[in-house]
Amino acid sequence: MRLRNYIGGHFVESRGDSLLSLNPSSPSDRVAEFGAGAPEDAQAAVAAAKAALEDWRRTSAPARAEFLMRWASVIADQSESLAQATAREVGKPISEARGEAARCVAILRYFAGEALRPVGEVIPAQTHGPLQYAFRQPLGVCGLITPWNFPLAIPIWKAAPALAFGNTVVLKPAEASSHVGTLLAETAMQAGLPYGTFNVLLGAGAQVGQPLLEAGVDALSFTGSQKVGLALAELAARHNVKFQGEMGGKNAAIVLEDADLDRAASLIAGGAFRYAGQKCTATSRLIAVRQVVDAIVEKVRLIAEGYVLGPVDDPRCAVGPMISEASRERALAALGGQAGAARVEGEGYFIRPAMVRGAEPDDPIAQEELFAPVLTVIEVSNVEEAIAAANATRFGLSASLFTNDLRRALNYAEHIQAGLVRVNGDTTGVDPHAPFGGMKGSSTHSREQGPAAVEFYTEIKTVQINP
Ligand code: NAD
Repeated sequence: MRLRNYIGGHFVESRGDSLLSLNPSSPSDRVAEFGAGAPEDAQAAVAAAKAALEDWRRTSAPARAEFLMRWASVIADQSESLAQATAREVGKPISEARGEAARCVAILRYFAGEALRPVGEVIPAQTHGPLQYAFRQPLGVCGLITPWNFPLAIPIWKAAPALAFGNTVVLKPAEASSHVGTLLAETAMQAGLPYGTFNVLLGAGAQVGQPLLEAGVDALSFTGSQKVGLALAELAARHNVKFQGEMGGKNAAIVLEDADLDRAASLIAGGAFRYAGQKCTATSRLIAVRQVVDAIVEKVRLIAEGYVLGPVDDPRCAVGPMISEASRERALAALGGQAGAARVEGEGYFIRPAMVRGAEPDDPIAQEELFAPVLTVIEVSNVEEAIAAANATRFGLSASLFTNDLRRALNYAEHIQAGLVRVNGDTTGVDPHAPFGGMKGSSTHSREQGPAAVEFYTEIKTVQINP
């Protein structure tokens, strides 16, 4: 299947050499082919979004909300085929892919409501008489650069607030999820979103990502790896483009001696190994006090052994393949002597869940994001050491603590360096209407989703009218 860009309401061929998106469960299955793109493609997409901007920002908020509700309905109607396409293109187990499609519906409905909230406030002037108010306006054209691992939800959680508040959008999905990105364009078209409000630009990140930023966008929201995010942050600063980056994680689950170990093991195994550990919020470090480390490791291991690796369209599937041969080989290399046990022969980039014991907090396996079903186990003596170990990375996305001690839970919630904090919960997932984002090197320190999204997708104008 040959994919095309969706620009100004039309599907148009992209430039450049052909790229392929392969089914990671069965790489001989070529999901799609598309052009690697060129600066002219990015310029055309931004021009279409600019052309649509004035009409869209003048569309009343209730009418914009209505468009988002219609988009939600189209996605709800097609949720099964979108989930199947997601399972095939990125190897997401079908039960999670269905959940992701449902999440998109919830996000669009939520932001349809957010579009109707008050946009400002009246502020008393220094003297009697003038009317002074400050209100939020859209930014203009928003570029959205997204990763492959949540190919439906991440584009929607950026596009929904952008559109709700009156911006137009150019989405650049990851190469490995280009088919799903194109399906989103089709749903936007079917929902009747005015031409040019939502555009999809396919291609290689290195070939169209920077040109998108330089083609005159007013803001760029990025989710992906830290390396790419920080490079884009620098570029955005040079062009004075408002920038938001949500990046990687090395998320820790801490287990204390008073924890309910069965509950902890089930949530930690799920957080570490479901979807082959390829969530930014996946649990990649288990930090346990010595009294319980053997017991928790054994319980997690038994649960992981019971996980079904594939096929991904089987509702019992929990793990699925890794996204590419390169990711699988990187994970196996990091496993060293354990790689043989983790390797799965046959077609598809599958590996078995693995745990690495005896790591120190500063070992590479405890520091680098592997994005794989690999859980590094760190032993500590007490809760203070546990929190220090959890904080000893450059990342700060999500974290969890398993304890029944309220005092220690509150102290952890205060001192843990993570944007998403759980007690007796999994490091993955967040309610679609709650703010989402990391601390330290996981983020450029703004938040997405929920009531936080308006901060990024609007700017404040202060007006004083003197009678
Ligand atoms: P990636 O950084 O390789 O790619 C992300 C996007 O950036 C893709 O669309 C890609 O085409 C584009 N890109 C690549 N090079 C570019 C360049 N030079 N200029 C502009 N754009 C470029 O990430 P990925 O492999 O798709 O996704 C996995 C990463 O995403 C992990 O690090 C994961 O933790 C992170 N992630 C973070 C969150 C979060 O909210 N914090 C959520 C999901 C994934």
